[in-house]
Amino acid sequence: MEPDLTVFADRIRRLQAEMTRQNVDWLVAGPAADLRYLTGLVGHPSERMSVLLVPRGGGPIYLAPGLEAPQLANRRDLLDVVTWEETQDPATIAADLLGGDSPTVAVDDTLWSVFLLRLQEALPGAAWSEAGALLRPLRMIKDGREIELMREAARRTDDAWLEFISAPIAGLTELQALRRLLDLTYARGLGPNFGSCGSGPNSASPHHSGNDRVIQPGDAVVFDWGGTLEGYNSDITRTVFVGEPPDDFRRAYAAVLAANEAALQVIRPGVPCEALDLTARAVLEDAGYGEYILHRVGHGLGLSIHEEPYLVLGNTLPLAEGMIFSDEPGIYIPGRWGIRIEDAVLCTDTGAERLNEAPRELTVVG
Ligand code: ZN
Ligand code: ZN
Ligand code: ZN
Repeated sequence: MEPDLTVFADRIRRLQAEMTRQNVDWLVAGPAADLRYLTGLVGHPSERMSVLLVPRGGGPIYLAPGLEAPQLANRRDLLDVVTWEETQDPATIAADLLGGDSPTVAVDDTLWSVFLLRLQEALPGAAWSEAGALLRPLRMIKDGREIELMREAARRTDDAWLEFISAPIAGLTELQALRRLLDLTYARGLGPNFGSCGSGPNSASPHHSGNDRVIQPGDAVVFDWGGTLEGYNSDITRTVFVGEPPDDFRRAYAAVLAANEAALQVIRPGVPCEALDLTARAVLEDAGYGEYILHRVGHGLGLSIHEEPYLVLGNTLPLAEGMIFSDEPGIYIPGRWGIRIEDAVLCTDTGAERLNEAPRELTVVG
């Protein structure tokens, strides 16, 4: 079946309008989220340079190694495909295509530095900038189809969790437990996926990814994971306790849950991003956990797991209808345990819609 390219053609037109506003001649994007957003192509990140080149006016070009040409056949209505052969220098070809002595070129935030260095050498007169400034306003606001995909990705992730917590986890290593959870997520059609599991004292490190520690009674266990549906991520965190939780853990858990809920209540268009962080922080500080907050309350979510808008102190960007981001307050007590409760949330015209509805109440597992 031929893909429907109209949505991508429209995004490219809107990008070009933004390029005109910001006075940028070209956008260069490697095989990553910006490419997927603009063309639907996943791309193939490797040492062989492949880049999307979008001019301020006219049709975009995809410069790719010759061996990738077959995958690009169904994009001919959207893109001019230019291929390079193994013995050619793609940076020189790209420089010729970008043309002129001193073009202004915006570069995808994730383009490999080696490619940027080669392009800069081939185009010494060019002025370079970050493409995020062009694409942020577009990618931050999800359209109907994107929202539908992210709702569904979140729903399937919740569903995987319900099956996961129906079986005991004591006796498994962190990595074994995480593997089981990711397999359940993958089985629901969400792939590729990502995740982390921290048990006991490891749960006090927010980005501990999981190791061979065996989960045991008396552990708090934090699972943070997600998977993709047509490139769009789910991202959820749940914290469980193995066996009967002590009172101080229950108290702390209640505070994090209240912070998650309080941040949610603040959401509506026009509210500055930092208001969510301030609100969640105030709840945790009032409960006496101020010194155990290690991170902002959330981040935008979409084709990237972390993207704009960032819900962080100092960010005055106003929320807008169609933004999707995480609400994930946490506290981390060194040597003891951590607690984080994360949902993906959509900013609607009147408030917020949680995309994740897996139970948030303190869950005791075996
Ligand atoms: Zn994170
Ligand atoms: Zn997460
Ligand atoms: Zn997150």
